[in-house]
Amino acid sequence: MAEPARSIYNLTYDQLSERLADWGEPSFRVQQVWQWLYQSLVTETEAMRNIPLALRRRLEEDLGMGALRPVRTIASQDQATKKWLFELADGETIETVLMQYRRRRTACISAQVGCAFACAFCATGQMGLHRNLTAGEIVQQVLVVERFLREEGEEKQRQLTNIVFMGMGEPLANYRATLQAVRTLHDPRGLAFAGRRITLSTVGLVPAMRRLADEGLELGLAISLHAPGDELRDRLVPINRQFPLAQLMDACRNYANKTGRRLTFEYTLIRDVNDGHEQARQLVQRLRGLLCHLNIIPLNPVSDRAFQPPARAQVDAFRQILERGGISVTVRMRRGIDIQAGCGQLRSPPPTRHQRRNAV
Ligand code: SAH
Repeated sequence: MAEPARSIYNLTYDQLSERLADWGEPSFRVQQVWQWLYQSLVTETEAMRNIPLALRRRLEEDLGMGALRPVRTIASQDQATKKWLFELADGETIETVLMQYRRRRTACISAQVGCAFACAFCATGQMGLHRNLTAGEIVQQVLVVERFLREEGEEKQRQLTNIVFMGMGEPLANYRATLQAVRTLHDPRGLAFAGRRITLSTVGLVPAMRRLADEGLELGLAISLHAPGDELRDRLVPINRQFPLAQLMDACRNYANKTGRRLTFEYTLIRDVNDGHEQARQLVQRLRGLLCHLNIIPLNPVSDRAFQPPARAQVDAFRQILERGGISVTVRMRRGIDIQAGCGQLRSPPPTRHQRRNAV
């Protein structure tokens, strides 16, 4: 199989600096190149006007600009959500989503091609894991969306305000590349994206959550909870068998204590599975006393008919029980459902007829 693209976006500032020094370049070059990449957001070395031609060629040939080839972009009917399907250098595909509403412009980006964790109701989970994304592939998703906003965004709305790792894959299972990408996006010499405006969402990988708490970053952390007790969570989120709720909640408390950041819990509400009043009460018990916010996501339709969205009244009742229990809670608005860009709906395109015929 072809390698993921080599690319300049895979290098940290220090690595790029070393590379340029090896090539005998003066030390100020690295800052210039970094600015072209992360402030001007150029897509070609040709545009780097203050960089000598020979060096531009060398960047192009020895490092490469990497490429996410947009195969398809599609906007929701209300134009608030836009989704890109990108082809990577080795032919794999990923999806990236932009959500624009109120005063927020949020990029929802992918950390892996597919996902290994197989949550019962998630379309990406049904694909299995194809591979990790490189730091460069993660970073470039953000750059594509930033470029789009810069060129086509409305006045005063030309920049992203938030980045969430809630696309395909599990960011904490691709820890090294995810953290490197975060640091690159955060680097004050480039895009300078505030850590507080970046959120990683995790299925609940306890050791990685503990490690993240000690990184000294102020990242937001969202935890895909989906059930108030182990028995149900074992079924919906199979990794719970390895890291059950007691351990998970410990790691959550640790993260909140060390970073001072309020946690977000995601709870996908599924009809007759986890939307009962008793379950809401158990959830109150589970979350009480924790610095947290609960985000209820009414299930977005996926192909498995065993899982149905809850009735509107059930969502309201569930929310009210939590509110009365003193838990901060919102119901996540359903965005981009008409273009399969909602939570848990991202996946590679269905196999072509040709591939299906050859499938075993
Ligand atoms: N792997 C990470 C990042 C994915 S974020 C994680 O698990 O947190 C996507 C969120 O949408 C997760 O909370 C996921 O559990 C949820 N989700 C998955 N399928 C869904 C569906 N069909 N409807 C609503 N939410 C879903």
